[in-house]
Amino acid sequence: MIDRERRLVERRIRAARFPAVKCLDTFDFAAIPSLNKMLVLELARCGYILGRENVIALGNSGTGKTHIALALGLAACQKGFSVTFIATASLVNQFLEARDERRLLRLQRELAAVKLLIVDELGYVPLSPTGAELLFEVFSQRYERGLTVVTSNLPFEDWTSVLGSERLTGALLDRLTHHVSILSLNGDSYRLRSSRNRRGRADGRAEQNQATAGHDPGTGAITPT
Ligand code: ADP
Ligand code: MG
Repeated sequence: MIDRERRLVERRIRAARFPAVKCLDTFDFAAIPSLNKMLVLELARCGYILGRENVIALGNSGTGKTHIALALGLAACQKGFSVTFIATASLVNQFLEARDERRLLRLQRELAAVKLLIVDELGYVPLSPTGAELLFEVFSQRYERGLTVVTSNLPFEDWTSVLGSERLTGALLDRLTHHVSILSLNGDSYRLRSSRNRRGRADGRAEQNQATAGHDPGTGAITPT
């Protein structure tokens, strides 16, 4: 039975099409103090899926929104829920393709049926009016049926710039935020910081090597910057 359960979890993970498998164990909460850690841990227990609450992660680029969304998705797979992870731009592209191939309804039904839909990166690319309407329909069809996790680099007041119409943005936000947990990730980009740290450590090592040249080479401890 354990083996069967493990295979089911693996199948759900494959079906979710995560671009990478990430979990909360590798997330450094200290790096992003604006993020409510207790709320994230609670969400990872997946109660929100049964309580039908959406999750919106907002914050600038590189602050860990996708990482958190992936970790919540993984937790949901492990707890037995079906998950689909997709970037906003490719979701809209899939819709447009499906519409041209006259299988829009099928795709809409598939997306409405999944327990947890993760829509990543809303905000990087402005959508065409049709794209925005199709996205709106996804949220609308899932409303109070399945859960949606959305990540965005834009605060709500700027969503109109992506969705085009103020009316549509209002209606979409209305549905999305009726039952919602909002995660705010505001801070320095973790990507930038870690590459800066790597560079810093490399420089430090070079200095240390110079300093210890001719002395005991065994004490070249590297102090993190
Ligand atoms: P965003 O989606 O907000 O642009 P990502 O989640 O893609 O940012 O994060 C960028 C990279 O940095 C990823 O590889 C992610 O795993 C890592 N990362 C970001 N924040 C943290 C953190 N607090 N702890 C560990 N890794 C992090
Ligand atoms: Mg991201």
